[in-house]
Amino acid sequence: MILPKEARLSPDKVAEITRIVEEFGCKVQPIIGAVRTIYAIVGDERDELMINRLEGLPYIDRIDRIQSPFKLMDRRSDLASHRIAIGGVTLGEELFVIAGPCTIDPKNPNYFYETAAAVKEAGAHMIRGGVWKPRTNPYSFQGDAKSLDILMEGSRRTGLPVDTEVMEVSQIKLALDAGVTCLQVGARNALNYSLLRAIGRAIADRDTVVLLKRGLHMGPISEFISAAEYIVAFGNPNVILCPRGTAPTLDGYRSHPDESITPLLKEKTWAPVVIDPSHSVGKAAFVPACALAAVAYGADGLCIESHVSPNSGIGDDPKQSLTPEVLADTIAQAKQVWALRRQVKVG
Ligand code: PEP
Ligand code: MN
Repeated sequence: MILPKEARLSPDKVAEITRIVEEFGCKVQPIIGAVRTIYAIVGDERDELMINRLEGLPYIDRIDRIQSPFKLMDRRSDLASHRIAIGGVTLGEELFVIAGPCTIDPKNPNYFYETAAAVKEAGAHMIRGGVWKPRTNPYSFQGDAKSLDILMEGSRRTGLPVDTEVMEVSQIKLALDAGVTCLQVGARNALNYSLLRAIGRAIADRDTVVLLKRGLHMGPISEFISAAEYIVAFGNPNVILCPRGTAPTLDGYRSHPDESITPLLKEKTWAPVVIDPSHSVGKAAFVPACALAAVAYGADGLCIESHVSPNSGIGDDPKQSLTPEVLADTIAQAKQVWALRRQVKVG
């Protein structure tokens, strides 16, 4: 829909906008109101270049798009009935929980094995563990490819699928060859379109899942959903959206908690939403409340950092990992909230 700055456009201007939209196979249909006239674009109005050219005209106020810019992620798309199942759990049918340490310590693999067993016992369905780590400080531990073997051994010992972050194209093949079920795209890479494309291409013919974190500086919700569209466009629709807090605004929380985004995402997309409360609030003491709030807002699952001995962990674990005991309580309470939320009447 073309909304001009003036009440109605002169014939010259209508001719100009008509020329532009016709180049893209569309037509202009004026909608004449008592006070002003607006101009509908009839046809596929998603071409970015067409929109940019119209928006660049000095007499145009804005273009309101009726069609979604994301063809596959849109909740009205053919993929709307797609369900993602991991390790026997179908997302949306029961609360799905991912848990494990921030970072696998290659020098102390037993911490990972013990944590993997403990989070399984606590009720987790998939184990997380960082092999390669995006660290703010270049001198901090950056991860170690050797931890991939530890991750997969943890998976064998527990029988649970695993999730790990890939930061570079070369790591995608290593992770897939090792048998990683879920590739995580971190907050820092959520807008790295070449990485997103490479992941989409690599998993096109597999049933691998992607956990796409929300970027720290992402703006409109469509930016997040469009990042997922980059991956899904290659043919594998198994993308889970993972809000994890945005740039901090509340002194004391690591990030700005964004678990309230879920209903807005669900208005626009069919994709399941798994909230990461650990990186959102960033302190173990605050994580359980954030997790419960996330489920109350309608999240399909939680991704929670947990470690058998948080203080012995590396990466974020000493600050934000829950002990398996607290994790077990949090999961049990989150399941109650899940059940309660299903009784909430909407409207
Ligand atoms: C992580 O999951 O350990 C991590 C670094 O996450 P994020 O990309 O959300 O910061
Ligand atoms: Mn972490």
